[in-house]
Amino acid sequence: MSTVERHLESACPLDCPDACSLDVTVADGRVIAVGGSERNPVTGGFICAKVRRYPEHMYGPSRLLHPGVRTGRKGAGEFHPVSWDEALDLVARRLLEVRDGRGGEGILPVSYGGSNGYLSQDTTDARLFHRLGASRLLRTVCAAPSGRAAMGLYGKMPGIAYPDYAHAKLVVVWGMNPSVSGIHLVPYILEAQRRGAKLVVVDPRRTRLAERADLHLAPRPGTDLPIALSLIRWLFAEGRADRRFLAEHAHGADELARRAEPWTFARAAGESGVAAGDLERFARLYADSSPAALRCGWGPERNRNGGSAIAAILALPAVAGKFGVRGGGYTLSNSGAWKEIDGLAAARAPEPATRAVNMNHLGAALAERGGASVDLLFVYNANPLMTLPDQERVRAGLEREDLFTVVFDPVLTDTARYADVVLPAATFLERTELSRGYGAFVLQRAEAVVPAHGEARPNHEVFAELCRRTGVAAPGDPETAAEIESALLESSPRGGRLAADLSRDRIAYLPEGPAPVPFVDAFPRTPDGRIHLVPDALDAETSHGLYHYQPEPSGSGFPLALISPGSDRTISSTLGELHRADVPIALHPVDAGPRGLSDGDRVRVFNGIGAVRCRVRIDAALRPGVAFLPKGLWSHHTESGTTANALAPDSLTDLAGGACFNDARVEVERLGRA
Ligand code: SF4
Repeated sequence: MSTVERHLESACPLDCPDACSLDVTVADGRVIAVGGSERNPVTGGFICAKVRRYPEHMYGPSRLLHPGVRTGRKGAGEFHPVSWDEALDLVARRLLEVRDGRGGEGILPVSYGGSNGYLSQDTTDARLFHRLGASRLLRTVCAAPSGRAAMGLYGKMPGIAYPDYAHAKLVVVWGMNPSVSGIHLVPYILEAQRRGAKLVVVDPRRTRLAERADLHLAPRPGTDLPIALSLIRWLFAEGRADRRFLAEHAHGADELARRAEPWTFARAAGESGVAAGDLERFARLYADSSPAALRCGWGPERNRNGGSAIAAILALPAVAGKFGVRGGGYTLSNSGAWKEIDGLAAARAPEPATRAVNMNHLGAALAERGGASVDLLFVYNANPLMTLPDQERVRAGLEREDLFTVVFDPVLTDTARYADVVLPAATFLERTELSRGYGAFVLQRAEAVVPAHGEARPNHEVFAELCRRTGVAAPGDPETAAEIESALLESSPRGGRLAADLSRDRIAYLPEGPAPVPFVDAFPRTPDGRIHLVPDALDAETSHGLYHYQPEPSGSGFPLALISPGSDRTISSTLGELHRADVPIALHPVDAGPRGLSDGDRVRVFNGIGAVRCRVRIDAALRPGVAFLPKGLWSHHTESGTTANALAPDSLTDLAGGACFNDARVEVERLGRA
């Protein structure tokens, strides 16, 4: 009998800027292929290689099919299946025991962007944990410093839409690799180049786009701030700052100029390792080009200077007067552009004044004892053992016999192996979801295309059930997907319009439309509608003031800077179970030679807090002095089962308590041939 294939629509809610609209092929109640559709204009009918493998994620050997209770030692990943009833009763009982004994703050929920959907995070889950008085998690592992900077300077004004990059005469890609993350920007950059635009790439690696660039700057990690300040200084000093625009639209221009003043090209070159002549070339190109589009990524934030670096980069289009024309300005994250939807209010889950735990300090938090201890850890939409800094301290915490850990996930992650109870979560293709892009300006609704595999259940259902079983549910709480979606949309002043657009088209746009032009259609969302180049709040938050540069600490004894950006296989840890091959660390030939290393050698990468055993790959595309091991790896990707995060300190960025992954300094020694 021939199988009937059907094509169904969906939308990708994974932690990625592009929010692709999807064409999903279904046969016999199973997803057999996932491709791109044209509904989200940015998707253009194609998607990344990662999500094309999504059926393997849904039906592969790592998929969790039933609730389970631990049988083996922590870390072994051995569970015996139990019914949902038994599992939820057990979890509810332990939640209440901790709340009524140690106090609600002994419960720590850990979640992140495994799925950015509005229904799967910060709805019934927030209701459960907030009403139990649990500790609050600060979700700082990524984008916290850049978000704080963008909010302070521009109130998270919407940035340039991807298609408008085609209009630019100069494209700057700073600390981002769109060939592997936010891939739908690339065709527009190539189109701009076909029309004669210049391309500047700032990245310690010669990425695919850097190879096509007119100018590639490869700075030492952590030195984007001096580079940006040297450009700002030059713009003011040479009379190339747009004083009229600044007077009309910005506060703090003179103070910014004063703080940038010490940063001559020569001084910035000394810190960054980029030739002063190249810095000047970049400054002239930027000043002379309009429209000039600046794509700012998250690479520059992942170090001790991260918040100030992003603020200085985002200040450039204001100082140089690049707004007000299609293709002019910057793009960072547009997630804040959807702040019209108030998820916590919709979920009836106002935040309590309980203690806040920075997720970058999870290892330290799990090491606390007595009155500050974490006794119950509830992990969902996240794989913290693989994604957070100071990995071995996180692992030691998860190994605590007196810690009760629940992991709710579609697959058996490395973190789930340490769980006392695992709960199988439905994937986004098995449940309703409402999700927004943070690169594309879209809000999309998608219904389940297939029934959930095994006994998997959607997040909102499970947390609503836990609210009931712990006695914190209240009459009138929105619980079903439809009720939660209605409440979410009603929290927006234009909720009726959004609901109508989603019902008709499955897609809705920002009030400013699908491609707003900054300072024509969209303006700063600061209280006074102006740019704040040196916002008081940011200045007060940083210990030495905004734009203060902290140099490389000397004398660590570990000479190589380890960076861990995404790759074409892993951006976050989601889908990491699919890629089975060993992942090598990349080193430049001038670093490999003196260490006696050849391609394929087994090495030990180490510093004072951890070690990774893996193979080495010699790569002349790296900046000398920089080592590269991708983020998002799982334990099976290296010989030691540890990843770059075992070498990353849990120190924090100058703004917003972000992670300093790129401040990891390491040494590499040869172990032998693979
Ligand atoms: S991860 Fe990004 S590029 Fe891949 S399908 Fe999802 S939105 Fe598209």
